Order: sequence, then structure tokens, then C-alpha cells
Amino acid sequence: MIVMKFGGTLMGSADAIQHSASLVTSSVKAGTQVVVVPSAMSGVTDSLLKIASSAENGEIAFAADEIASIKTRHITTARALGAASDSSAVAKLEGMFSSLEQTVNGIYLLRELSKRSRDLIVSFGERLSAPLMTVALESLGVTAHDLTGGQAGILTNNAFGNARPLPATYERIPQRLNGLFEQGITPVVTGFIGETDKGAITTLGRGGSDYTATIIGAALNADEVWTWKDVDGVMTSDPRIVSDAQNLEFLSYAEIMEMAYFGAKVLHPLAVTPLQKNNIPLRVKSAADPSFPGTLVTANATPLKNVVKAVTAVRNACIIDIGGAGMVGAADVTAQIFNILANLEVGAVMISQSSSMANISLVVQQNDGKRTLEALQRQFADSEQVRTIEFWEKISVVAIVGDGMRGARGVAAKLFSAVANEGISIDMISQGSSELNISFAIDDEFTVQAVKAIHAAFHLDKLEP
Ligand code: ASP
Ligand code: MG
Repeated sequence: MIVMKFGGTLMGSADAIQHSASLVTSSVKAGTQVVVVPSAMSGVTDSLLKIASSAENGEIAFAADEIASIKTRHITTARALGAASDSSAVAKLEGMFSSLEQTVNGIYLLRELSKRSRDLIVSFGERLSAPLMTVALESLGVTAHDLTGGQAGILTNNAFGNARPLPATYERIPQRLNGLFEQGITPVVTGFIGETDKGAITTLGRGGSDYTATIIGAALNADEVWTWKDVDGVMTSDPRIVSDAQNLEFLSYAEIMEMAYFGAKVLHPLAVTPLQKNNIPLRVKSAADPSFPGTLVTANATPLKNVVKAVTAVRNACIIDIGGAGMVGAADVTAQIFNILANLEVGAVMISQSSSMANISLVVQQNDGKRTLEALQRQFADSEQVRTIEFWEKISVVAIVGDGMRGARGVAAKLFSAVANEGISIDMISQGSSELNISFAIDDEFTVQAVKAIHAAFHLDKLEP
């Protein structure tokens, strides 16, 4: 059995969906059971987020126009895939659009948008795209049935916007899907969403369809999970920045997690976690070129001579530096800082503390920057220990990642001379003790230059087996 996830671009138009469906049906017709996990049509998640916030702000006309254009896009696509105007698929889509309109109207009337209602609105992206995949599969002669993540058994906690699956998920999924397989039906499960024990819809965080696929893969003990992309597999760097970036044929779970965490838009950062227990391989495959090997992710990557395998960057970040000579020995200052981050649900991209404990620096994403700063300023307004809180915007965090860095000498020296040779100054440095990555913060304007220089310094244009 294989779980196949399709990203937004591969669900973006009737042609794209038709092609994605053909990648499924060729496996099904060869006798492999497949679970299909589609993302929303490209751009729809972002547009639903805009609809939600404009309803909250009273801009209902904008929201209505935007809903109308998404509706036209979905109905036209369904028709182009062969669904008749009186088909159950079109009726299903129309029903969903009236439910979306009602929800958005409720938000408009209350001028209130909770995380819970935002998740409900954004879930329409995948709930609308899954029926399109079903239509496409059926037109290619494969019987299919679409379900929401919750219907397929994904039970999550209440962390709306960033929900996590609960253990019962792994028992429910086989209970809900095995019956379909027995009838020869291919399940199509909406990516990105689950539900709470009360039946409220939750989302697994941006890019969460990957996570849906691996949760299902683990629950069904699948042979492999495939994430289909519109580009080659996982690369040594962003090919839009580095023109000679190479495809990485093998990566370990730990490496791809580090890369995802440090800004490579390859996979949801937690997506491999469900696969680790039973060592289920993940393949990142190219829909444009299905015979291309892509990237195979397993517990242990096949080693390359290159110790560093990738250079990534997190753009749009800021640094908050908390300082004061009185902080020496002040463990409770550290505790308070982490508490604030936890209460605000802000994940720090990077943290460093000078060993004199005279200051602690954090890098957080730009959208979290101001509110984190304000919360820290309130907390430490009358503090004897914290004297200064400084804030820098337009920062990026550049990271190098690779299993082979563990214990290798000279990696940091080579990295920082490459950056120094470009005349770029470094604001902050951190290396995890796992030695899987070294990351550092610089002014965002130098990101492209730094990434290119590091890619060249580590000869990532030539991977050596
Ligand atoms: N549609 C969701 C997003 O854009 C989930 C996904 O595509 O994986 O974040
Ligand atoms: Mg998407």
C-alpha cells in the first residue's frame, strides 16, 4: 500500500488534477492499494484566510467576491473533469459553498474570528478539492470515495491552527478505511485537517497535508508514503536562488526535519515523525517526471562524501535581544522568557545565550516579532535583572544541514570564512548538540549572496557518492 499526497499546484486546475489522478490510477491498476491525500487547489488556502479576516473586519463585499471566484473555479474544474451539472459531485460542492457562506456571514455579523472558526473556514480548501480528485479518479475507471480527515479517523487535540493527532487516530484510521479497501474503493482523504473529540474541525499547520499522509501511512503500516511535487525531489538549496542546486537522492528523517525547520519548503516539519517508529520510507517525487528518482527518506541516508548536504534560509525574521549585567545566574529570567513564548504560542527559530548569561537572543518570525517584544517589555518593565530589550527586523536565518557534520572538523570554519569573504557580518550563531545543523542570523538583504557562497564553498553543485 502507498499513501500519495498531492500539493496545491498538482491540484491547481482540471489538467493538473487529471494528471495527478493518472499517477494514482497507474498504481491502482497495477494492483497496489493507494490512499490519496490532496491539498487545496493552489492559492485557495491563502484566499480563505483573507476571506476570514476580511469578514472579521467588516469587509463583506470583498469576502463575497472572493468566495464567488473560488466557487467558479471549483465548479468549472469539476465540469471540465467530466462531472455533469446535476451530478452528486457538483451538488456536494454547491452545498459546501453555502455552508462556507453561512460561516463567513456569522463571522461578519459577530466581527469575531477565533482560531476555531479560522480552522473551519480554511478547511474548505481541502474539503472542496477532494471531491475533484474523486471525479478525476472515477473518470479514469477507479472507484473512489472522499472523506474528511476526521471521517478517516484523524482525531486531534484542541490546538486549533496547529493541531496534533491523538494516539486513538492510529486505531481509528484502519477501522474507517479497511472497509473501503475490501470493496475495492480508493479512499481520497482531505489533507491538512482533523477533528476534535467533539467533532470540531482542526488544521495541522500550514503545509499539513504532508502530515496527514504520513499519519495515514503509519496507521495503515503502508509500504511507502509518496509526496508528489511539481518540481524535482529535495534539493541542496532553493533552485530559484542557486541555479546549480542538485537533487538529493537520499536523506535521513532527521535531515529532512532540520531542512524543513530551517525554511526549505519541502515538507511539514513534523511529517516524518509518524514514520519513524516502523521505518516507513518517504519518497518526494516529481509529477512532471515520474521516473525521476526524487528523494528517498529513511532512518539512515546513504552517506555522501559531502558532509554538508543543504543550505537553507528562513526569511522575514527578527531578533530580540534581552540583556542586563544583572542577569548573571538568573535562571528565572530564562524561565520567564520561555513561559512568554509558550503563552503566545511563538516558536523561536533560534535561541542563543552568552555563557556569561549577560544576554539571551531569540530569533522569531516577523509576524510574531512585535507581540513577543511587547510581552517581554511588559514582563520585564520593572525588572532589576533585565536592563535592555533590543529588536532588529529584516533578519534571516541561514542554516547548513547534514548527518555527516557530526564529529567532522573544519565545517564551521569553512562556513564562516565563506560568509566573511562576502563581507557579511553575522548577528547570531547556534549549533545544536546533535551537530546536524549550524545556523546563523544575518541581515536579510545578504541572504541570497550568503546562500550562494556557502553552496559553492561546500561544493554542493557536485554531490559525491
Ligand atoms: N492547503 C494547506 C496549506 O496551504 C495544506 C497543504 O497544502 O499542505 O498550507
Ligand atoms: Mg497549499
